[in-house]
Amino acid sequence: MRLILLGPPGGGKGTVAKDLGGEFNIPIISTGVILREESERKTRLGKKVQNIMSKGKLVPDEYIIEIIKERIKQEDCKNGYIFDGFPRNIEQAEFLEELNKELGEYIDYVFYFEISFARVIERLINRRVCKKCSTNYNLLFSLPKKDNTCDLCGGELYQREDDKEETIKNRFKVFTEQTLPLKKYYKEKNLLTEVNADIGRNTFLKIKNILGGL
Ligand code: ADP
Repeated sequence: MRLILLGPPGGGKGTVAKDLGGEFNIPIISTGVILREESERKTRLGKKVQNIMSKGKLVPDEYIIEIIKERIKQEDCKNGYIFDGFPRNIEQAEFLEELNKELGEYIDYVFYFEISFARVIERLINRRVCKKCSTNYNLLFSLPKKDNTCDLCGGELYQREDDKEETIKNRFKVFTEQTLPLKKYYKEKNLLTEVNADIGRNTFLKIKNILGGL
């Protein structure tokens, strides 16, 4: 099963991806998580993208394409995968289509997370992330049991550099201009399903129901 989760920053894609990955036993490919790890490890790629990410801009397609090409061919992706945060523009979507064709694979579903901007802004400002396992928490509705500590792995929680208010505005601009056109793109290919994303748990259950029949 191959899925794409599409939606605004803070729409809950990462959390729903984790739940779906656990339910269907398929890996999550989050370009944001991969890039943050590279940046944390100060690799060559990490150093190149750090500044771009902290401004809320998109990392150049050539880097993303390399990451995806590598990742998708690994053994654990044989039975499928969940894309979270990729593709992010039409060029990346066209690249994916070509790559899928080459590998004889196809995308089953693209889920678009429908949520108001006011709600995602509130979510982003209050989001905290585990440094070790990248699980998301929220100071408003999903607090960790112990302050600043991940329930799952004990890692330290932090606020992402790009979750500061100024950068959030920029990420929305980028989303509207570059990522939103993918909604129409996948609708025309008959792959798009829109899901209400106001409550993350409900979004997961809804998607799980739809996929149950596959
Ligand atoms: P969110 O969905 O909350 O914006 P992500 O973790 O998906 O967060 O992305 C964080 C940042 O990583 C983006 O603002 C961008 O700089 C970079 N990034 C992630 N995925 C991509 C992608 N597919 N193409 C270009 N840049 C990306």
